[in-house]
Amino acid sequence: MKNVESIFQKPLETAFKEALTYLRNLDSMPAGVSTDLKTLRQRLDRPLTPEGVPAEQVISELIHDVEGGLIGSAGGRFFGWVIGGTLPAAMAADWMTSAWDQNAGLYACAPAAAVVEEIVGFWLKGLFSLPPESSFALVTGSQMAHVTCLAAARHALLERAGWDVERKGLFGAPAIRLLASGHQHGTVDRAVRLLGLGTEHIESLESDIASRMLPGALEKALESHSGAPVIVLLQAGDINTGGFDQFEQIVPMARRHNAWVHVDGAIGLWAAASPRYRHQTLGMEGADSWVTDGHKWLNTPYDCGFAFVKDAGAHRASMSHRASYLTHDEDARDQLDWNPEWSRRARGFATYAALRQLGREGIADLVERCGHHARALVAGIGALPGVRIMWKPIINQGMVRFLDPRQGATEEDHDRRTEEVMAAIQAQGEAFFGGTTWHGRRCMRISVSSWMTDDDDVARAVAAVRRAMGD
Ligand SMILES: *Cc1c(COP(=O)(O)O)cnc(C)c1O
Repeated sequence: MKNVESIFQKPLETAFKEALTYLRNLDSMPAGVSTDLKTLRQRLDRPLTPEGVPAEQVISELIHDVEGGLIGSAGGRFFGWVIGGTLPAAMAADWMTSAWDQNAGLYACAPAAAVVEEIVGFWLKGLFSLPPESSFALVTGSQMAHVTCLAAARHALLERAGWDVERKGLFGAPAIRLLASGHQHGTVDRAVRLLGLGTEHIESLESDIASRMLPGALEKALESHSGAPVIVLLQAGDINTGGFDQFEQIVPMARRHNAWVHVDGAIGLWAAASPRYRHQTLGMEGADSWVTDGHKWLNTPYDCGFAFVKDAGAHRASMSHRASYLTHDEDARDQLDWNPEWSRRARGFATYAALRQLGREGIADLVERCGHHARALVAGIGALPGVRIMWKPIINQGMVRFLDPRQGATEEDHDRRTEEVMAAIQAQGEAFFGGTTWHGRRCMRISVSSWMTDDDDVARAVAAVRRAMGD
């Protein structure tokens, strides 16, 4: 008999102990990295020996070698990009997911994982008030959620044009127009590339200061080339402004022209789960497909995004996979009929745990708390002399810019000053912010999406910015 205790106990205990130490130290550790590429390569490039290394030693050495090369996104003072922390229940469920080692490709391989995903899909549709008949897929992130949704769109639009895209491919197919604000996330463009739709077919329409597509510009674009298959690419939560497209005006307009409406809600779909922010998403439920992430605002571990498609038939037709060696279940849900992957992590467990730990009110509270802290950060940093507030948060995203105090300083000088202050904040390590170029100007982005962030973190971050400015 295998002695499971002696095989697993030591490496798992080491991992458990070290994980707790890591989480405990987050509060005093730099929020950014404290080592460099050369050091990491030197440390990690150990010889791949012929004889192997005991598991416990592997894990201990790995933990030692990565030190300083981990970004503090699990902590409360990380405001770069849109990167959330991890909720305790989600982390524990993720550990169990590894222990259980299920291949969540289909029901027969991993029955419990299939059922958990079914329930998660149902819960999420409810939280976001999406049409109950919508199908869904738990994918690696919004990138693959875009691919999944736009594959369904491609199927539906070309089927209407009498073209079987799964069988014939795109050679000779009618071109699909893609109408966007020009502020769509790069993952949308990449999905368009992967699906063979061609980024040349994306038309950037006029947008407002919040990166929202102008309804008038859309109306005009829809009226030209009337009859051509069209996908309208909308956003719930722009990465810079957190702006939401005006769904109530835009969605019915797109409908009248038989366009497919796709919503990138990687960040902002969560606004629909909060009474305070829900109004931003009004009319969004009339779209055809929606994307969001679990690993951002829901605070699950990475490898967690969600795709929803109103036309379940189109979704399934674009993804379904049948093979004689597989055991399909007619009653249960086989994930590979909805997902672009085959073998896959049972990522539903972590989402299930996160949703249950928070509950409906906890989710709303997480969203609202992040919005509150984002406003407090922008107000606190914006009140420092020499700071210009560029964007006050609509949800959890804001922007500031640091001004060169010299007489006659130009916008380019302010760009330089902004870079300098951001670098000084990074070097200090007390807080982490990212930069962006917005309307041609360098800005510091302030993005709050961790359940860990509290008032103390906000005060410490504002103080850190003041110090970095040389005060
Ligand atoms: C992060 C993000 C994405 C990409 O999501 P991944 O999970 O990283 O693939 C897409 N759109 C927006 C608006 C985002 O913020």
